[in-house]
Amino acid sequence: AASAELRELLLGRIRDVPDYPQPGVVFKDITPLLADPAAFGALVDALAALADRHGATKVVGLEARGFILAAPAAARAGIGFVPVRKAGKLPGKTLAQSYELEYGTAEIEVQTDAFAAGDRVLVIDDVLATGGTAEASLELIRRAGATVAGVAVLLELGFLGGRERLAPALDGAPLDTL
Ligand code: AMP
Repeated sequence: AASAELRELLLGRIRDVPDYPQPGVVFKDITPLLADPAAFGALVDALAALADRHGATKVVGLEARGFILAAPAAARAGIGFVPVRKAGKLPGKTLAQSYELEYGTAEIEVQTDAFAAGDRVLVIDDVLATGGTAEASLELIRRAGATVAGVAVLLELGFLGGRERLAPALDGAPLDTL
Protein backbone atom coordinates (compact mmCIF):
# COMPACT_ATOMS: atom_id res chain seq x y z
CA ALA A 1 0.00 0.00 0.00
CA ALA A 2 2.82 2.41 0.86
CA SER A 3 5.00 4.20 -1.70
CA ALA A 4 8.60 3.05 -1.99
CA GLU A 5 9.67 6.40 -0.56
CA LEU A 6 7.50 6.05 2.54
CA ARG A 7 8.61 2.45 3.00
CA GLU A 8 12.27 3.49 2.97
CA LEU A 9 11.62 6.34 5.41
CA LEU A 10 9.82 4.03 7.86
CA LEU A 11 12.16 1.04 7.55
CA GLY A 12 15.16 3.31 8.14
CA ARG A 13 13.73 4.28 11.55
CA ILE A 14 12.97 0.78 12.86
CA ARG A 15 15.75 -0.78 14.92
CA ASP A 16 16.37 -4.52 15.22
CA VAL A 17 17.17 -5.54 18.80
CA PRO A 18 18.41 -9.15 18.87
CA ASP A 19 17.46 -11.47 21.74
CA TYR A 20 14.86 -9.13 23.26
CA PRO A 21 12.71 -9.76 25.28
CA GLN A 22 14.09 -13.31 25.13
CA PRO A 23 16.81 -15.26 23.29
CA GLY A 24 16.00 -15.94 19.64
CA VAL A 25 13.55 -13.05 19.20
CA VAL A 26 14.51 -10.05 17.07
CA PHE A 27 12.54 -7.18 18.55
CA LYS A 28 11.41 -4.46 16.13
CA ASP A 29 11.97 -1.24 18.07
CA ILE A 30 9.91 1.66 16.69
CA THR A 31 11.15 4.30 19.15
CA PRO A 32 13.56 5.88 16.59
CA LEU A 33 10.59 6.31 14.24
CA LEU A 34 8.45 7.88 16.98
CA ALA A 35 11.28 10.30 17.79
CA ASP A 36 11.50 11.50 14.16
CA PRO A 37 8.62 13.91 13.43
CA ALA A 38 8.94 13.53 9.64
CA ALA A 39 8.71 9.73 9.79
CA PHE A 40 6.07 9.63 12.55
CA GLY A 41 4.00 12.30 10.79
CA ALA A 42 4.17 10.43 7.48
CA LEU A 43 3.13 7.21 9.23
CA VAL A 44 0.16 8.85 10.95
CA ASP A 45 -0.93 10.46 7.66
CA ALA A 46 -0.72 7.10 5.87
CA LEU A 47 -2.75 5.35 8.58
CA ALA A 48 -5.38 8.11 8.52
CA ALA A 49 -5.58 7.79 4.72
CA LEU A 50 -6.23 4.04 5.11
CA ALA A 51 -9.01 4.74 7.62
CA ASP A 52 -10.57 7.10 5.04
CA ARG A 53 -10.12 4.67 2.15
CA HIS A 54 -11.73 1.79 4.04
CA GLY A 55 -14.64 3.90 5.25
CA ALA A 56 -13.74 3.43 8.93
CA THR A 57 -15.86 5.21 11.54
CA LYS A 58 -13.65 4.15 14.50
CA VAL A 59 -10.00 3.25 14.96
CA VAL A 60 -9.00 0.56 17.45
CA GLY A 61 -5.47 0.53 18.88
CA LEU A 62 -4.01 -2.64 20.39
CA GLU A 63 -2.16 -2.19 23.69
CA ALA A 64 0.40 -0.85 24.00
CA ARG A 65 2.34 0.33 20.94
CA GLY A 66 -0.81 0.20 18.84
CA PHE A 67 -2.16 3.06 20.99
CA ILE A 68 0.74 5.30 19.97
CA LEU A 69 -0.04 4.89 16.27
CA ALA A 70 -3.81 4.52 16.34
CA ALA A 71 -4.74 7.51 18.51
CA PRO A 72 -3.14 10.23 16.32
CA ALA A 73 -4.34 8.42 13.17
CA ALA A 74 -7.92 8.50 14.47
CA ALA A 75 -7.70 12.20 15.33
CA ARG A 76 -6.15 12.94 11.93
CA ALA A 77 -8.93 10.99 10.17
CA GLY A 78 -11.57 12.82 12.22
CA ILE A 79 -12.99 9.68 13.82
CA GLY A 80 -13.00 8.20 17.33
CA PHE A 81 -10.30 6.10 18.97
CA VAL A 82 -11.11 2.95 20.97
CA PRO A 83 -8.54 1.14 23.12
CA VAL A 84 -8.43 -2.66 23.17
CA ARG A 85 -6.59 -3.42 26.40
CA LYS A 86 -5.08 -6.30 28.27
CA ALA A 87 -7.60 -7.77 30.72
CA GLY A 88 -8.33 -5.83 33.91
CA LYS A 89 -7.42 -2.31 32.74
CA LEU A 90 -10.73 -0.89 31.48
CA PRO A 91 -13.41 0.46 33.86
CA GLY A 92 -17.09 -0.38 33.53
CA LYS A 93 -18.67 -3.19 31.54
CA THR A 94 -16.30 -5.00 29.21
CA LEU A 95 -16.22 -7.90 26.78
CA ALA A 96 -13.21 -10.22 26.98
CA GLN A 97 -11.55 -12.45 24.41
CA SER A 98 -8.90 -15.06 25.22
CA TYR A 99 -6.34 -16.34 22.75
CA GLU A 100 -3.47 -18.78 22.65
CA LEU A 101 0.14 -17.73 23.03
CA GLU A 102 3.16 -19.95 22.38
CA TYR A 103 3.14 -20.68 26.12
CA GLY A 104 -0.21 -20.12 27.82
CA THR A 105 -3.06 -17.76 27.02
CA ALA A 106 -3.72 -14.03 26.97
CA GLU A 107 -6.88 -11.98 27.30
CA ILE A 108 -7.91 -8.65 25.80
CA GLU A 109 -10.93 -6.47 26.52
CA VAL A 110 -13.04 -3.68 25.07
CA GLN A 111 -15.78 -1.66 26.72
CA THR A 112 -19.26 -2.93 25.81
CA ASP A 113 -20.40 0.58 24.80
CA ALA A 114 -17.31 1.35 22.68
CA PHE A 115 -19.15 1.06 19.36
CA ALA A 116 -22.39 2.41 17.93
CA ALA A 117 -24.62 0.46 15.55
CA GLY A 118 -23.11 0.55 12.06
CA ASP A 119 -19.57 1.36 13.21
CA ARG A 120 -16.80 0.22 10.85
CA VAL A 121 -13.53 -0.38 12.65
CA LEU A 122 -9.93 -0.18 11.45
CA VAL A 123 -7.57 -2.05 13.82
CA ILE A 124 -4.04 -0.65 14.12
CA ASP A 125 -0.92 -2.17 15.67
CA ASP A 126 2.82 -1.74 15.19
CA VAL A 127 3.85 -5.32 14.39
CA LEU A 128 1.88 -8.29 13.03
CA ALA A 129 3.76 -11.35 14.31
CA THR A 130 1.76 -14.60 14.67
CA GLY A 131 -1.48 -12.67 14.18
CA GLY A 132 -3.00 -14.02 17.38
CA THR A 133 -3.60 -10.62 18.97
CA ALA A 134 -5.14 -9.11 15.85
CA GLU A 135 -7.29 -12.19 15.31
CA ALA A 136 -8.67 -11.98 18.85
CA SER A 137 -9.34 -8.25 18.42
CA LEU A 138 -11.46 -8.87 15.31
CA GLU A 139 -13.50 -11.44 17.20
CA LEU A 140 -13.98 -8.95 20.05
CA ILE A 141 -14.98 -6.11 17.72
CA ARG A 142 -17.65 -8.24 16.04
CA ARG A 143 -18.96 -9.46 19.40
CA ALA A 144 -19.22 -5.81 20.45
CA GLY A 145 -21.53 -5.24 17.49
CA ALA A 146 -19.25 -3.47 14.99
CA THR A 147 -18.05 -4.31 11.48
CA VAL A 148 -14.37 -4.89 10.65
CA ALA A 149 -13.15 -2.35 8.07
CA GLY A 150 -9.59 -3.71 8.06
CA VAL A 151 -6.32 -4.16 9.89
CA ALA A 152 -3.32 -1.88 9.35
CA VAL A 153 0.16 -2.47 10.73
CA LEU A 154 3.49 -0.77 10.36
CA LEU A 155 5.39 -4.01 9.96
CA GLU A 156 4.56 -7.63 9.20
CA LEU A 157 6.91 -10.48 10.15
CA GLY A 158 6.01 -12.60 7.12
CA PHE A 159 7.88 -15.71 8.24
CA LEU A 160 5.50 -16.10 11.22
CA GLY A 161 2.46 -16.53 8.97
CA GLY A 162 0.27 -13.91 10.64
CA ARG A 163 -1.39 -12.92 7.37
CA GLU A 164 -2.49 -16.51 6.74
CA ARG A 165 -3.71 -16.96 10.30
CA LEU A 166 -5.66 -13.71 10.16
CA ALA A 167 -7.33 -14.35 6.79
CA PRO A 168 -10.44 -16.21 8.05
CA ALA A 169 -11.10 -13.57 10.75
CA LEU A 170 -10.63 -10.77 8.20
CA ASP A 171 -13.38 -12.37 6.12
CA GLY A 172 -12.43 -10.34 3.05
CA ALA A 173 -11.50 -7.12 4.89
CA PRO A 174 -8.08 -5.71 3.92
CA LEU A 175 -4.79 -6.18 5.81
CA ASP A 176 -2.45 -3.29 4.96
CA THR A 177 1.23 -3.27 5.91
CA LEU A 178 3.00 0.04 5.56
P1 AMP B 1 1.14 -11.55 17.61
O1 AMP B 1 -0.09 -11.71 18.42
O2 AMP B 1 2.04 -12.74 17.66
O3 AMP B 1 0.87 -11.09 16.19
O4 AMP B 1 1.99 -10.43 18.32
C1 AMP B 1 1.69 -9.17 18.09
C2 AMP B 1 2.04 -8.27 19.25
O5 AMP B 1 3.31 -8.55 19.83
C3 AMP B 1 2.09 -6.90 18.70
O6 AMP B 1 1.32 -6.09 19.56
C4 AMP B 1 3.54 -6.52 18.68
O7 AMP B 1 3.70 -5.25 19.21
C5 AMP B 1 4.25 -7.55 19.53
N1 AMP B 1 5.39 -8.21 18.85
C6 AMP B 1 5.47 -9.51 18.49
N2 AMP B 1 6.64 -9.81 17.95
C7 AMP B 1 7.36 -8.65 17.94
C8 AMP B 1 8.68 -8.28 17.49
N3 AMP B 1 9.51 -9.17 16.95
N4 AMP B 1 9.06 -7.01 17.64
C9 AMP B 1 8.22 -6.10 18.20
N5 AMP B 1 7.00 -6.37 18.64
C10 AMP B 1 6.56 -7.63 18.51
